[in-house]
Amino acid sequence: MKQDEFFMKEAIRLSREAARHGNEPFGAVLVRDGQIVHTNENQIYSRHDFTAHAELGLIQAFCAETGVTDLHEYTLYSSCEPCFMCSGAMVWARLGRLVYGASDLELCSLLSSRGSPCSRIVFEHSHYSPQVTPGVLRAESLEVLREYFSAHGKH
Ligand SMILES: [Zn+2]
Repeated sequence: MKQDEFFMKEAIRLSREAARHGNEPFGAVLVRDGQIVHTNENQIYSRHDFTAHAELGLIQAFCAETGVTDLHEYTLYSSCEPCFMCSGAMVWARLGRLVYGASDLELCSLLSSRGSPCSRIVFEHSHYSPQVTPGVLRAESLEVLREYFSAHGKH
């Protein structure tokens, strides 16, 4: 669990960087054998691409750069629960394990908007599911989201 917190801290640091770069505060880290192999942050505004989420972009870039097409030996740390799209990418990439901080329901309750247990819905209805560890450094993850969305409003 110590290791999960270490890598989650990095994902949360990247979420702050994303906000500093004018994007929404989400970060992701890919780990294999206790080593970070790739990182990414949300880039929706800087790339004018509303699919440029941290997790999807990380999977696309890592697989394209390395030729790896099966992530069953990898763990992805996400500062917040992955959305339907990114959870779908995790299914297609056969990700071994997912660790996230705040859940989508916790984020949406901050925003007074409607959330869902999105990653669980995708995984339960797919042919494959990673192992999932939710809620790692939840409070720290939520604090970054609260700071950002209270200043910027929700989209
Ligand atoms: Zn996403």
